[in-house]
Amino acid sequence: MNETMTSTAIEASSGVSAPLEKVALETYVPPAKPSLIGLSRAEIAERLGAIGVAPTQRKMRVQQLWHWIYVRGARNFDEMTSISKEMRSQLEAHFTVARPEVAAEQVSNDGTRKWLLRLPSGDNLEKAHEVECVYIPETDRGTLCVSSQVGCTLNCSFCHTGTQRLVRNLTAGEIVGQIMVARDRLNDWADRDTPTGGRLVTNVVMMGMGEPLYNFEAVRDALLIVADNEGIGISRRRITLSTSGVVPNIIRTGDEIGVMLAISLHAVRDELRNELVPLNRKYPIAELLQACRDYPGSSNARRITFEYVMLKGVNDSLDDAKLLVKMLKGIPAKINLIPFNPWPGTRYECSDWDQIEKFSEYVFNAGYSSPVRTPRGRDILAACGQLKSETEKLSVRERQALRAMAMTD
Ligand code: SF4
Repeated sequence: MNETMTSTAIEASSGVSAPLEKVALETYVPPAKPSLIGLSRAEIAERLGAIGVAPTQRKMRVQQLWHWIYVRGARNFDEMTSISKEMRSQLEAHFTVARPEVAAEQVSNDGTRKWLLRLPSGDNLEKAHEVECVYIPETDRGTLCVSSQVGCTLNCSFCHTGTQRLVRNLTAGEIVGQIMVARDRLNDWADRDTPTGGRLVTNVVMMGMGEPLYNFEAVRDALLIVADNEGIGISRRRITLSTSGVVPNIIRTGDEIGVMLAISLHAVRDELRNELVPLNRKYPIAELLQACRDYPGSSNARRITFEYVMLKGVNDSLDDAKLLVKMLKGIPAKINLIPFNPWPGTRYECSDWDQIEKFSEYVFNAGYSSPVRTPRGRDILAACGQLKSETEKLSVRERQALRAMAMTD
């Protein structure tokens, strides 16, 4: 996050009940031997030029590397057998195809998997930070929930990540790296015969730790790589970026990335949304909805998802449902109701199931798709930010044991 972003985020959270302490964000320092993951084709060509690869060869080398990295999932240059041995050792001397290290892995009874990933800055492991990435398998798809920042400034009062201070923005490589790790761990590089057409990770949602639109450039560059159809090839219609409402970057998301949009709405009145999503003080509901109306490419076939966490006695009345339907009029929308997944220390409770059903029925009868998201991975605390906090409480020995498990199973 650059200085402008830092002050914007701080400004956005000022005046709320839990204001952010003004801390300088850390700057990412690349390791001495950088990873090629997350670089565009032009950037890879430039790096190749810097190590003496002739201009006439660069385009072909970039194509080969792209294929080995993003189609075959190669984890080192030795595997790239269509590249000459000499070239491979030259690449090896200067670069890696390293992904984030898996610090812990948990598998839920329902198949949800959660990874805690370690992200070093420079070669100093003391300076490593951790983010989470969650894989949610369903019959017709496998969704990977990806993080964009270490921590978050926005202090949404129902969100566990909001209790963790923002440390730094992830790089494009660290964002793409989360998908690479998931495919590695799920053995998801080889084509196979499955109902999802061969791959386990079929969908990506930017809904993990952090506010993606406060790390716009890195998120954009990463998602363009994820969507590239000569590589990972996950279609833009299967990639969803979720924002708490950074209005100025919403239109840019449509123009420059072209992915599906989700809005963390959670309340229909500014007074309540100011409390649940403090960024609302800067970009109130009316401005946010106007940006949604103007979102490039939205249509009945490409609806905007409005996320609505169900909090008992807070935002779950039928009056709330009525107002919700009224204010979304004219926006191609679907409403995703999320039963609240409580975390230690939260002041909220999940709405009663009856109430969730009544709310959902009202919204459905008004013509909106209103699926209730089935709680997943509750036994492994799959709501974002929870594995990180749990792991922070472990001793060094316990952390080593978790890491060893992650390496061997
Ligand atoms: S909901 Fe998203 S934006 Fe809000 S605190 Fe949590 S991670 Fe940050």
